Amino acid sequence: MAIPKRRKVKAGPTKTVQPSPTRQRSAGGAPDGGVASWPLDAQPAGSFDFCRSLVRNVPDFPSKGILFKDITPLLANPKALHIVLDGIAERFIGEHVDAIVGIEARGFIFGGALAARLNASFVPVRKPGKLPAAVDRVEFHTEYSREALEMHKGSLHEGDRVVIVDDVLATGGTANAAASLVHGQGAYVIGYAFVIELSTLSGRERLLPTRVESCIVY
Ligand code: AMP
Repeated sequence: MAIPKRRKVKAGPTKTVQPSPTRQRSAGGAPDGGVASWPLDAQPAGSFDFCRSLVRNVPDFPSKGILFKDITPLLANPKALHIVLDGIAERFIGEHVDAIVGIEARGFIFGGALAARLNASFVPVRKPGKLPAAVDRVEFHTEYSREALEMHKGSLHEGDRVVIVDDVLATGGTANAAASLVHGQGAYVIGYAFVIELSTLSGRERLLPTRVESCIVY
């Protein structure tokens, strides 16, 4: 088949794009905005400090009194994203993980990449009405509201070994609800993985004795 010719585009005025502060940080890699580099193999503990410096605190979002942990600056930094993904993946290498279950929405970002690193399948757990085929559903209470999560029926096999992934562990209610969907399909939760853990909300205690791994603890 012939390859279509490209249309000629009229040249417009040249625009000079200045590198943004985020881009400069990505290239330089120091939390203070300096130019020091952070080699990946240098100091894993220090590297998580670097990632922590890229989490933005947004007060009163989505509602008054909540200090929202915004991970978008961390995602925008390729080195930080790599450190977080490798940091979680290396804790489960050799553990025979069959599936990563990622919780909507930010759990998808980390879950999909982790599944690829661990040679596991990726299974999304979504808010009601988003998954197109037949679903299993679980309802649960958060501090302020009644919520529900869904997972496609037949996503997991009997005996599958599953890691549940989300961006933030707060009270543990969401992860716990995802676990009941996993158990409902006859699979095991061998661990939970979070980028951020808000330890004052005691989510870890709710999920124990199952293993809980997190990169940045507040
Ligand atoms: P929980 O069920 O209380 O553990 O809440 C966890 C879920 O709520 C995760 O999906 C998080 O993305 C979200 N979440 C809870 N608290 C925060 C927070 N302070 N900042 C960002 N996300 C949060």
